[in-house]
Order: sequence, then C-alpha cells, then structure tokens
Amino acid sequence: MTQDQRRKTVVVSVDGVKVGGSHPIVVQSMTNTDTADPAATATQVRALHAAGSELVRVTVNNEAAAAAVPDIVGQVDVPVIGDFHYNGHLLLTKFPQCAAALAKYRINPGNVGAKRRDENFRTIIDVARAQGKPVRIGVNWGSLDQQLLTEMMDENARRPDPLDAREVMREAMVASAMRSAELAEECGLAHDRIILSAKVSGVEDLVAVYRQLARRSDYPLHLGLTEAGLGTRGIIASTAALSILLEEGIGDTIRIRVSLTPRPGGDRTEEVQVAQQVLQSLGLRSFTPQVSACPGCGRTTSTFFQEMAEQIQTHLKVQMAAWRERYPGVEALRVAVMGCVVNGPGESKHADIGISLPGTFEEPKAPVYVDGRLKLTLRGDTIVAEFLQILEQYIDARYGAVTGAGPEAEAGAGPAAARPRAGTVRP
Ligand code: SF4
Repeated sequence: MTQDQRRKTVVVSVDGVKVGGSHPIVVQSMTNTDTADPAATATQVRALHAAGSELVRVTVNNEAAAAAVPDIVGQVDVPVIGDFHYNGHLLLTKFPQCAAALAKYRINPGNVGAKRRDENFRTIIDVARAQGKPVRIGVNWGSLDQQLLTEMMDENARRPDPLDAREVMREAMVASAMRSAELAEECGLAHDRIILSAKVSGVEDLVAVYRQLARRSDYPLHLGLTEAGLGTRGIIASTAALSILLEEGIGDTIRIRVSLTPRPGGDRTEEVQVAQQVLQSLGLRSFTPQVSACPGCGRTTSTFFQEMAEQIQTHLKVQMAAWRERYPGVEALRVAVMGCVVNGPGESKHADIGISLPGTFEEPKAPVYVDGRLKLTLRGDTIVAEFLQILEQYIDARYGAVTGAGPEAEAGAGPAAARPRAGTVRP
C-alpha cells in the first residue's frame, strides 16, 4: 500500500494539518490531564507533540475547561482539538474564545442530548461554520444514538429475514455517522470540513464498520479502536485492526493512545510511538530508522548482542532530533543487529548497514555489511563504539549531501548516498 493507492477522500485542513487525499496519514493523541489546569495540560500537549503527535485533543467537559482552552492553545505549537459530549452546544456558544482557539471540534452524535438532539447538534455546527472550523463526527459503540438504534432494531424485527443484532448494531454505527454528516452539510458546513470515525472495541467489528464507511462516503476517516484493553493486549488489538484497514487504503488519521488505557503514571507518549510504528511497519510513513534485531536463542547464551542492539537503538533515538534536521531522509534508514551466523549475514545484507555478531561457538568476529556488501570485520571489546562510528559516517555520507551537511557536499561530490527512498514521507 502506498500513499497513492489509498482510498480517495476530500482533504480537510485542521489548522494547516491536512487530513485525507494523498497527504500522509496523520498521527494524533489525547491528553489525560484536567483541561481546567492549563499549565499541566499545555505541558502534556507539548510532550505529545514532541513525541510526534501532529494533532492533540483535549477534553472540554465543563466551563472551567472551556475557559482554559485559549490559554492552553497559546502555550503550544500544535493544533488542539476539543472533545465535546453532552454540553458542547452550551460551551461553544458561551465561550467563543474557546471556539475560536480550537482547531477542530469532535462531536459524538450519541451524546448531544436526547430530546433536543438535532437542535444541539445544529448549534455546534453553526459555531463551526461561523468560526471556519472542521468537525469530527465521532460515533462510539459505547454511546451509540439509542433512538436510532431502537428504530433500526424495530425495523429489522419486522423484516421477513431479520439480520443478526450485531449486524444491526454495525449498521447503526455507520448510519449514525452518515446521517450526522448529512445534517451537518444541510446546516451549511462544507463537505471538506467533516471527518468521520466510528469506533468499536472489537477488531472484526471495527474492520466491518470502517469498510462500510469507506464505501459510502469520501470523508476522511479517523481510525482507532476504543477500549482496546491494557498494555500489550491493547497494542496488539489496535495494531491488528488498524493494519487491516490501512493495508486496504482506509484511514487518514490514526489515534491509538486513548484506547491503550495506560498504567497509572505511564508515559502517554508511548502510544504516539506505537501509532508511528504501525505506519512505518506498513511502509506508509517513516519516522525513525528501523533496527532489525534478532531475539537471540541458544546460539547466543550471553546477552552481549542484545545489549549491543539496545545501545544502537538508544543511540539512534537520542540522535534522531538532530539528525532529522541535519540529514533529511534518515528516518528511512534500515539497520540490522544480528546474533549469529545463521541469519546475521543475510539480514545484514538486506539492511542499509548491518552487523552480525559472533554466536557462542563462533570465531569472535563481527562482519559489518554496508549496502549489501561486506565492508569490514570488527574484533575485540570496542565493537559497539566502532560500529557506531561506521554508522555515523554512513549517515553523513548518505544523507548529509542533501543539505550540504556532509563532507561530500563540501567537496561537491554528492554520493548515491543521498537517494531518497520510495514511500518515505516526512512529517
Ligand atoms: S540469528 Fe542466530 S542468534 Fe539470532 S535468533 Fe537466529 S539463530 Fe539465534
């Protein structure tokens, strides 16, 4: 799947960040601070942005939160989205500075009120139209419009061959999103001011619902599994669901963070990294050099090679902030750090630069491969330092020429090194 093969959508601009069309799939996240505390929230927004989140959402759940939004937005350098439930129509009209400061409003059609549902929804759309803001119509399995669901269940029951209740629920999710989008356009909101999402907690359901949404509209789609579960379960479930859809060209912005239910005190930015890794693993975007490291086995009884792989990955991570500026394209670099002769040389040859460490019963030497060829063989206690030096030289030679940062550029000899990699999209 390449950017060009993705589902065709209109493009929605979220304060300059383009979502949809052929634009790179946008990574976003959400804070978990009390939005009424502008200092704490701005700090977390900045941390998420620094980790790579290109849009950050905050909950706007009460008047204190709405009043704090302009202050938060003034302290950060990333578009901030407001998440509204139940009282969005009241907060957005009572706090026009909040409405003006936010880059987008998220509306849950199931949570805009029961009796005056459409009226409240229209009020939010009117504000969005007046402020020139896009909205995300975000349907959620856990707060699905009960009135609509009941109508559809009743209708289904009258059919000679009724559908399974789960099928009706999926259909109701899609119908809720589509009807709300139609209503928004009837209220005068432009077609290219609408993003849709319809989140559920099961992988199969999510895939089915999004395939339907993708078939029925050309709105950009926001992907994410809701209530994915704790830790690795959440990561795996989210990755499984999103990978299927992304591979089919469905999805224009992804949010994994909120669904991962982080541990108390856990690092919120981990989920931004997971979202980036999903996109990079599918070849849709590149964010950081990839290190292929074998897991080790009985052929490597010591932890030496694992420590080396860790040191190299840490080095890449630490250096990336500076490298990204200095060496455009470096995020597509592939490095291999392997444990023994079985797969080491082969995997290293597939990488741009790789090292094959000696297994337990092998001669203590580590061949280094560059661009698929054996470059040299390292020996002794300084293998890590020497390999990192070779890595630095390789990066400088290959990517430094692009901006004139490397010695080759100074000498006017741009090497093959500077070739950009197909499919690489920089944020
Ligand atoms: S490359 Fe060697 S050490 Fe690593 S997993 Fe394979 S056999 Fe084991």
